[in-house]
Amino acid sequence: MFTNEYLNSLFETTKERNGSQPEYLQAVEEFFEAMSFIVENDPNIQKFGIMERIIEPERIVKFRVTWIDDQGKVNVNRGYRVQFNSAIGPYKGGLRFHPSVNESILKFLGFEQTFKNALTGLPMGGGKGGSDFNPRGKSDAEIMRFCQNFMLELYRHLGADTDVPAGDIGVGFREIGYLYGMYKKIRNESTGVLTGKGLTYGGSLGRKEATGHGLLYFVREMLKVYRNDTIEGKKVIISGSGKVGMHAALKAQEMGAKVIALSDINGFVHDDNGLDLNIVKMLTEKNPEFSTEYLQYRPSATYDSNPSNIWTVPCDIALPCATQNELPLEAAQALVENGCFLVAEGANMPTTIEATKYLQHADILFAPGKAANAGGVAVSGLEMTQNAMHIPWTYDEVDEKLQDIMAQIFNKAYTEARKYTDHRNLVVGANIAGFMRVYHAMMDQGIV
Ligand code: NDP
Repeated sequence: MFTNEYLNSLFETTKERNGSQPEYLQAVEEFFEAMSFIVENDPNIQKFGIMERIIEPERIVKFRVTWIDDQGKVNVNRGYRVQFNSAIGPYKGGLRFHPSVNESILKFLGFEQTFKNALTGLPMGGGKGGSDFNPRGKSDAEIMRFCQNFMLELYRHLGADTDVPAGDIGVGFREIGYLYGMYKKIRNESTGVLTGKGLTYGGSLGRKEATGHGLLYFVREMLKVYRNDTIEGKKVIISGSGKVGMHAALKAQEMGAKVIALSDINGFVHDDNGLDLNIVKMLTEKNPEFSTEYLQYRPSATYDSNPSNIWTVPCDIALPCATQNELPLEAAQALVENGCFLVAEGANMPTTIEATKYLQHADILFAPGKAANAGGVAVSGLEMTQNAMHIPWTYDEVDEKLQDIMAQIFNKAYTEARKYTDHRNLVVGANIAGFMRVYHAMMDQGIV
């Protein structure tokens, strides 16, 4: 499978031990493929058990969350925190509230987060958490009760220098506010223990836009370096109209691109002349499922009730920003057939391994999520800095730092790609660049 025997054998053991965790194994497989380029030349990696240690979370906390709904019924959900790797700083990574959440998904996310955080250059280890709680259709009061009960258990494992969660799917300003309120009540301390907070109590300007904006800053670097081009006039399609997708769409438009298709869980809308993002924004502010209503405002657009069909829309650039494995092989084939030349992942692992390989073989420029969507956690890191200094920065200060960080991440991935393989292979480049920082920190800190 991999070109290296040691990695082959370790992957077999990993499969035996984690057979029921497909997403986690998928993330490890992608990582090991990149590692094949370096393990042979560095015997210390094997001697010091670096791979064995780096793929195993330092700690997984799993707990019951009991809460009462508006009808007085008692509900039980599962809560988790995967504290993956603290070699370069406190565990850092979002909380996801979605019915699909399980240990496999959180382990894959925590694993990827470790290298993503390393790429930002900031002192943040990797972690991820969440619950199989479904926020959809719940009242504000139910969301608040759930968040409070979730924090009632999680607080023991957090701390501004220990573990600092943020948002992810299903967790935004509202949920972070309720979580933070409960943490503060229990601990009686105001610290930067969560990021993505509201602006009135320690949040950072630019955090809510950061992942989407960072993605476009990364795409800007790719276009500049690989094509001596800009995004101006390019046709862009984006999946997912949540926090990442919506801000990516707005930034793409601001940079002169035309966003021609956007999806949500119910389908997607397409208008070759460009979608009216003011209408989309107005609709998504009320309800993330905007697509069924959009045509009432802009009848020139078309609607398709299958969100996966968005990948068949002819475009220049595709930005998957919804969820893992949403872009399978057939979608990649359709993109290539219809002229797409760049795919950059706003979501975490939205492209399957087969689809990624297909795109790379077809010479499509491809940016992996652990590099391209690192803007969110980068600004979370900046929020931690502002909290520690007790001084907020302006939007422009944060945005300038974000642009700089995204350009640096691109450069690190590009440099490693060029050193070890094809200069266009940012998957290998990003994995190696992220790994190197964590590896050296682990070596310096002994066998722990
Ligand atoms: P949100 O919950 O805000 O948005 C995701 C949206 O996509 C939801 O409305 C969801 O609907 C919808 N969706 C799910 N599956 C599909 C699909 N197949 N096609 C179209 N839409 C779909 O989440 P975020 O925007 O925060 O996160 C999106 C992705 O980006 C995730 O992979 C996340 O891990 C990643 N990410 C997020 C960061 C952040 O700062 N928020 C940082 C870095 C990465 P429904 O709720 O019905 O499932």
